[in-house]
Amino acid sequence: MITAWTRALGELASTRAHRRFLAAHSRILTLNLDGIEDKDNVIALYPGDGNVYVNERIFDDMASRLAGKGVEEDEVVRLVARKTVSHVAHELCHGMFIRRLRASAGETLIAGSVEQEALCYRDEAAVLDEAQRRWPDLAEHDFGRTESSDAALLESWRKGPKRLYADVAKLCAHFPTILSTSNEELAKTLKNRAAEFRKDVEAYRAVEDVSRTGDAAEKRAADEALAKLPSKFEMDRRLLWAQTTEKFLEDPQRVERMRKFVRAEMKRFFARPKKRKR
Ligand SMILES: [Zn+2]
Repeated sequence: MITAWTRALGELASTRAHRRFLAAHSRILTLNLDGIEDKDNVIALYPGDGNVYVNERIFDDMASRLAGKGVEEDEVVRLVARKTVSHVAHELCHGMFIRRLRASAGETLIAGSVEQEALCYRDEAAVLDEAQRRWPDLAEHDFGRTESSDAALLESWRKGPKRLYADVAKLCAHFPTILSTSNEELAKTLKNRAAEFRKDVEAYRAVEDVSRTGDAAEKRAADEALAKLPSKFEMDRRLLWAQTTEKFLEDPQRVERMRKFVRAEMKRFFARPKKRKR
């Protein structure tokens, strides 16, 4: 599957920057996203550790749907990769954003924002649009899971950057908007979130300890509690998020540099909705 995605990325013009980034800086890992919040809707994830994670379960669903309709196995892999390569491009866009932000601000911040999502949904839509034109046979199949969200994204993107931004802002209301929040407010929001994540990780580790060292009854109770908590993967992600955020906020100048960087990115976003040269 990973080979098929890499090949699909290589066959499109809108993924030129993404495949260069993948070749130089990133990897695609498959993973069952058990325990990840919102797991049914997460198709791919860039947690900021340099890897793109993809939710195998969704691709398995798509593959068995196609196989059930009599599509050959090789063809199934190729079709599913082409259908979903836009989601991989979206996550690679996060990787590229984080990397360029580090070059501008001097330190990495993996925290998301509405602006970052808007840029990556724009990339995703451009890839989706090209994929549909390049591989018209995709339209012959119903892949299930992502059909309605893919169609909604394309519609929003075709209406122009203002509409796309507004729709992304609604979809990502849980993220801060960098350009409409003051530096102080932004730093405070990020700091509080990092502290929350630290607390989550500490609580998780305390239960893990009991699961390792407690007596039989304590172990059983701890394991039951662990099963209800977010996954170990999610906890690692939260810890990395907290660590990079705290490091970023050590120098208050960085928030201002981030704002400048995001302002320039968004200027391009609104100026050239369909094509962007890097
Ligand atoms: Zn995203």
